[in-house]
Amino acid sequence: MNILVIDDSALIRAILTRTLTPIGAVHAPGDLQGARDLLGFHSGQCDMDVVLLDLEMPERDGLSFLRDLRAHPHLADLSVIMVTSTQETERLDDAFAAGANDYVTKPAHDNVLRARTLNAARLTRALRAAKDRERDLAAANVQLEQLSLTDALTGLANRRAFDQQYAQALALAQRSRMPSTLIMADIDHFKRFNDALGHPAGDACLQQVAAVLQRSCHRRTDLAARYGGEEFALLLLDTDLRGAQEVAGRIHAALEEVAIPHPDHPLGRVTLSLGLASTAAADLKGAADAALYRAKAQGRNTTAEAH
Ligand code: GH3
Ligand code: MG
Ligand code: MG
Ligand code: MG
Repeated sequence: MNILVIDDSALIRAILTRTLTPIGAVHAPGDLQGARDLLGFHSGQCDMDVVLLDLEMPERDGLSFLRDLRAHPHLADLSVIMVTSTQETERLDDAFAAGANDYVTKPAHDNVLRARTLNAARLTRALRAAKDRERDLAAANVQLEQLSLTDALTGLANRRAFDQQYAQALALAQRSRMPSTLIMADIDHFKRFNDALGHPAGDACLQQVAAVLQRSCHRRTDLAARYGGEEFALLLLDTDLRGAQEVAGRIHAALEEVAIPHPDHPLGRVTLSLGLASTAAADLKGAADAALYRAKAQGRNTTAEAH
């Protein structure tokens, strides 16, 4: 345990050091700059567990020093015991208001001083531990939230995440005149792929296709999601049909480049059919689905736009 004694009197510092040494490491700097260093006013780092602070000091009054201390966020949980010569209730009121946790009057009983110092240090540690737990919990929650929005197989956003952002995109389109575009994507002849190569190969294929889709979305506001088994949805905010056509072209080209072998496909490789619709359409999803259906009818490995 680290105890910081701040007092202008060398005699008091010596007495407090002797009294408190049995319960911890006592630091009693000879000037306030030394105290500020130990409190980490500049570094933001402090490993003190409790401070005993003289209320009456000529250089800088204990009360205003306490206010300086509490202005540092990293010292918010550090217990401070005011050390006073008399029971000046009015100044003590001010001290408590400024964030003091306790006080002792000089000369204090050794046992009382040690007990109160231990208690104050315990409070510091309890508050710090609670804050650590809070931080861990918040981090775990963020991770959980992330997991609940991610498709386990492909690492893309899942249907849940898509539905959330889809609703937001629609609301945004209604409020502003900003067009957004939805691309529905479906793997061509995927049943045949599974039949020829087996389900594990099918899953690996889905991962590769997902990676292609993710790479083809360049903007931070683009969302690539796994919509269903072998269907994907790309939501492109603030993007019109022309911009979406560019993304669609990139997807077809990237798939051609990656060339995932498909033994039962006329082209011998995995392809996607894409359906495009913009928020100008009354029923965005229905329109994108209808466009996708037409892309299939047109012979697959192509993009069709909503009428
Ligand atoms: P089309 O070109 O008309 O889209 O033909 P298709 O065979 O891809 O279409 P269909 O919807 O008839 O079949 C989709 C198939 O995708 C069914 C199933 O075998 C496969 N599939 C769906 N989800 C998964 C999955 O999670 N893993 C694997 N390996 N296969 C899946
Ligand atoms: Mg003094
Ligand atoms: Mg399908
Ligand atoms: Mg399909």
